[in-house]
Amino acid sequence: MVKGSSVCKKKKTVSLKVSLFAWRLLLNRLPTRDDLLRRHVLPIDEQLCTEGCGNNEDRNHLFVSCDFFGSIWFMICGWLQISSASSRNLIADLNQLCGLGGFSKNMWLVFKMLWLAVVSIIWKERNRRIFQHKEENILSMGEHVKLLVCWCFKLNFVLFDLTTIFGGKISCSVLLL
Ligand SMILES: [Zn+2]
Repeated sequence: MVKGSSVCKKKKTVSLKVSLFAWRLLLNRLPTRDDLLRRHVLPIDEQLCTEGCGNNEDRNHLFVSCDFFGSIWFMICGWLQISSASSRNLIADLNQLCGLGGFSKNMWLVFKMLWLAVVSIIWKERNRRIFQHKEENILSMGEHVKLLVCWCFKLNFVLFDLTTIFGGKISCSVLLL
């Protein structure tokens, strides 16, 4: 579990690209397949999830309830040593995750960064499958989340004991960043 005492905020460092991505995601303005279908960019028979799970792709499916992409949240909960039941709604799950920080503003920021890292990696993997026809497994995606989170923490906090997150399961390559 994350310990708030090891956090000391340095400065806010979120790139414009990441901010724009988060803004579009929260407003449901990302070009998911349901959005493209609504705008008549995609034909009706191309609305299925890129993972091949058989469900239509929309924001909540892609980022929360897809059997493949959504399973990364279970991995994250395992690393954090918490148990959490998904509401299958992106915004509700974001509020639930950030609520783990209690009343600490820094811890709220830590969990928000974690959430942003996960959704960024899911979106990147989804696009990789569509545009590059390449796939990564869920474990590789999890490693990318760790790297991204550690990078964000190093930019945003003076002190953060990386071993306090992910249940000490941070790989050497991450710690050497
Ligand atoms: Zn799916």
